Amino acid sequence: MSPGPHQLSLLPADPTPSLRVVTEAVRTAGPDGLPGARRLADAARYQEIHVRAALADVRAPSMPFRWALNPYRGCTHACEYCYARKYQRHLELGAGDDFSSVILVKTNLPEVLARELARRTWTRGAVAVGTATDPYQPIEGRYRITRRAIEVLTRARTPFHIVTKGPLVVRDRDLLADAARVVACRVYVSVPTVDDSAWSRLEPGTAPPAQRLRAVRQLIDAGIDAGVLMMPLVPGLTTSRAIVTRTLEAIAGAGARFVGANVARFEQGARDHFFGFLDREYPALADGYRRLYARGRPDPGYVREIHGMVHAAAARLGLERPDQATGAP
Ligand code: SF4
Repeated sequence: MSPGPHQLSLLPADPTPSLRVVTEAVRTAGPDGLPGARRLADAARYQEIHVRAALADVRAPSMPFRWALNPYRGCTHACEYCYARKYQRHLELGAGDDFSSVILVKTNLPEVLARELARRTWTRGAVAVGTATDPYQPIEGRYRITRRAIEVLTRARTPFHIVTKGPLVVRDRDLLADAARVVACRVYVSVPTVDDSAWSRLEPGTAPPAQRLRAVRQLIDAGIDAGVLMMPLVPGLTTSRAIVTRTLEAIAGAGARFVGANVARFEQGARDHFFGFLDREYPALADGYRRLYARGRPDPGYVREIHGMVHAAAARLGLERPDQATGAP
């Protein structure tokens, strides 16, 4: 017998707050006001939230995808150059430590996604998973939201690609191999450099580059279309010919099918954070950066030079660009 209205009202209300409730709580009391956040062993605070929408409509002609899907907000990988730091400001959180230590977990995202993809108006536009935070940051091991989202995308025959620095993606190679049989599906593993010194200072919360490249190998061995993004290249730290060559050789050695590269951009929010980091860690580079980024974006002549060097070295190693490899999103 189904419960009547009186019985329903006796059930406890769903305690998981919405994004709006969380934003309001932080505006009032800072991160300490998060309702029900749990601090785990990595010292980050995890706040579960319920979302009303899963897909974000990107609608940018320059992007090879229409929709973005991000199971988490904030990222414990804590890359100093991360452009997504600016999004934390929309939540009244700082773009610095708050970005990597306060993580919003969208626990109902797979169910909401399933409803969105079941609409008669859904046209199966390409979905990019992990545009603003890493979908395989360590907490995914506990929540498995990205994994469930992949199942939903595959069932709905919706093409998608994933961008990640998390070797945890290998856990889902069974699902990704299944997906690849029915839809366009690709994994971009981000490995901007194999230089240990630059890696440990620029990406303090990530797995070592060699571990990420092993993940590329395992994905390819499982029959998944996978390659590497050297993004971003960070001027003066990861752009020397020697470091670029070493990185590309390691990428080719991992069996990657393609490699993409781009010089870092620092938009407002991310820019203040990164330039503060440079002042502390690499003060000798700070003036050069302010000249290189005087107009916001990096000097176009410099970008052309770096891209030319990377593309020539990649071609010598037989690595295609992502848009040249078949199955590009
Ligand atoms: S892994 Fe990606 S989303 Fe996470 S901090 Fe690094 S660049 Fe940002």
